[in-house]
Amino acid sequence: MLDIQKIRADFPILSQKVNGKPLVYFDNGATSQKPQVVIDAIEKYYSEYNANIHRGVHTLSQLATDAYEIARNTIQYHINAKYNHEIIFTSGTTFGINLVAHGFASIIKSGDEVMISSLEHHSNIVPWQFLCEKTGAKLVVIPMNEKGELVVSEFDNLLSEKTKIVAVNHISNALGTINPIEYIIKKAHEKGAAVLIDGAQATPHLKPDVQALDCDFYVFSGHKICGPTGVGVLYGKEEWLRKLPPYQGGGEMIAEVTFEKTTYADLPHKFEAGTPNIEGGIVLGTAIDYMNSIGFDAIASYENELLAYGTKRLKEIEGLTIYGTSENKASVISFNIDGIHPYDIGTIIDKLGIAVRTGHHCAQPIMQYFNIPGTIRASFAFYNTKEEIDIFVEAVKKAQQMLS
Ligand SMILES: *Cc1c(COP(=O)(O)O)cnc(C)c1O
Repeated sequence: MLDIQKIRADFPILSQKVNGKPLVYFDNGATSQKPQVVIDAIEKYYSEYNANIHRGVHTLSQLATDAYEIARNTIQYHINAKYNHEIIFTSGTTFGINLVAHGFASIIKSGDEVMISSLEHHSNIVPWQFLCEKTGAKLVVIPMNEKGELVVSEFDNLLSEKTKIVAVNHISNALGTINPIEYIIKKAHEKGAAVLIDGAQATPHLKPDVQALDCDFYVFSGHKICGPTGVGVLYGKEEWLRKLPPYQGGGEMIAEVTFEKTTYADLPHKFEAGTPNIEGGIVLGTAIDYMNSIGFDAIASYENELLAYGTKRLKEIEGLTIYGTSENKASVISFNIDGIHPYDIGTIIDKLGIAVRTGHHCAQPIMQYFNIPGTIRASFAFYNTKEEIDIFVEAVKKAQQMLS
């Protein structure tokens, strides 16, 4: 059992008032709030040992390098990667996917296929379109059904020896659907295709085990798991990271540079050109430690309770439709109310201190499927409460009255 009041006290922002009302923060799918330990770790880094890493022999540089590499190990253990050099620090999920998609240009040929799903975030669509434009490969899309689930039989039909990589999200940010990635990974591997999992929306709710999953790449962002913005992780199996070319050239990623030829540094540095987000990397380790101190089993079961309660309460509202009704769902509720634009509801409830996301959630193809301009999305974290859900539901009812 989680002590929610104690957890909430860890997050200074949660005791704020917004527009004169206590903040109800239900936009966790966009970014999470930060606990005091994370805020303190940022301050500690800049006030006590800020220095560039991997270069200097001086004491501060050593301290910063050690902290950065300890964070890499923390991430390795957290996702159960085999080696710490399989953990590449990035600026976020978007960067990680672009890195892999860019690298595949040297592997993929015209006539090959790249498979994504109809549930993807734009970050996991556009980089693959770039890849297909560059190489002449074909983009193949796994369809979804009206519950917002991927149609597995269609995936089976679309998969072939032509498929070189399958890129799907673990959990959909727009609908909350938890995708059957174990099955997708297994089947894709049978055809010799690599698999990239976009874990941006899964890592806030669960602890992925990349070896058990056997995925080839797993990407996520620090800012959605209580860490800072501007830092993220690309996990890649060693053999794949050796095969892919570097993404950016610069300092740190080289072994030797002459004007005739440059040789690249070993992993992970090959993919970490330039001065990284040192503070971000270190503090991402702090954030992961914090979430583990709460425990992902407890987080998942509590969030499931919030999801069930929020779903039940919202269904009381007449004319309300929930999009994404899979049995396997994370704590995300996307909905609309008949005859009312999602933006108008979002604006009114903001005046009541409630933060939700309105719009297409960077997943326009999903909105096209349902033939809607967007949705209102409430996404719950482990620091949210049923009382907040009650406040939210009353606010939505009030907005509905005002707008109809
Ligand atoms: C947030 C999100 C992204 C993009 O993450 P950035 O931190 O903006 O790079 C990609 N995919 C999913 C599923 C997301 O939720």
